[in-house]
Amino acid sequence: MSALALRISVTDRCQLRCRYCMPPEGIACGCHSDILSYEEITQLVRLLQKTHGIHKIRLTGGEPLVRPQIEKLVAMLADLGIHDIALTTNALKLAPLATKLKAAGLRRINISLDALSPETFGSITGSQDIQSVLDGIAAAKEAGLLPIKLNTVVIKGENDHELIPIVQYALANGLEARFIERMPIGPGVEAYQDGFLSSANVQKILENAFLLTPATNEPGSSARRFQVTNQAGHKGTIGFISSCSQPFCNGCRRLRITASGELIGCLAREDGIPSRPLLQQGNDAAILDAVQTAMGGKRANTQFEQARSMSRIGG
Ligand code: SAM
Ligand code: SF4
Repeated sequence: MSALALRISVTDRCQLRCRYCMPPEGIACGCHSDILSYEEITQLVRLLQKTHGIHKIRLTGGEPLVRPQIEKLVAMLADLGIHDIALTTNALKLAPLATKLKAAGLRRINISLDALSPETFGSITGSQDIQSVLDGIAAAKEAGLLPIKLNTVVIKGENDHELIPIVQYALANGLEARFIERMPIGPGVEAYQDGFLSSANVQKILENAFLLTPATNEPGSSARRFQVTNQAGHKGTIGFISSCSQPFCNGCRRLRITASGELIGCLAREDGIPSRPLLQQGNDAAILDAVQTAMGGKRANTQFEQARSMSRIGG
């Protein structure tokens, strides 16, 4: 069987309220006993490693760094022999944790950065604490959590003026900036069209300041990459994740596991398949059936709206 790309959400919770992800009032979070324990996550990964050849895992959320002792989970997964463990974070809590995470076996990190100015960052995320994010990025670099990729969800009229500064910042710091098309998922689905800016339009904005030339794409990655050169001749790489204008469903092997253990094979589906009761029964055959059902339910390149937010699904 071909390898699965696992995205494991370790919590629904998050300190931020990014407008495209969380409603302002937050979401009703389950209590600690409702979410998979680190032992249950490890049990599930061990099984899938035997049957589906898991080589890499991405930990996400909600905000994964708000779950206490996340480095313990990283170490437990590294002990299974998973060499490519990655994490997606808002980086607010990263600075004091970066060295511990690296020592536990984390290899690389993606950091959400929708703006550099405190005003725009605040209006999108609900917090003006961009400094903690920048400190987190510096700490991740220092700890060697490389490569560091920045994820920017583009919202027309909100952060389009921040895109060129973000690329300049990425070039100056040796980071890869990636521009993500906002998906009709979570809060604000109704107003989604108003704020949508396609990757093609983002590319046009960036071409006012940089020379862009197509670069090699990474195997299995959803990003279309370009080499970028600024006027001083500094070079770097950027990527576009064009989920809406150029969907990349073909050959998708992503399986998302929510914090409560639901298996989600496709973002377009409303339903997830619970795995926790099966894990607790030790019913490996039923778990593998559930994985097959989740993976078999993928919908190719459909237009869809999804009411469940990414923080619930595991972005
Ligand atoms: N809290 C962490 C963070 O923000 O990096 C990890 C979880 S977050 C749900 C993962 C990714 O999902 C982020 O890069 C975020 O920008 C993206 N995301 C959330 N809602 C989205 C939407 N409606 N469209 C596109 N990307 C979205
Ligand atoms: Fe939190 Fe990440 Fe969602 Fe922003 S995108 S609200 S940081 S989970």
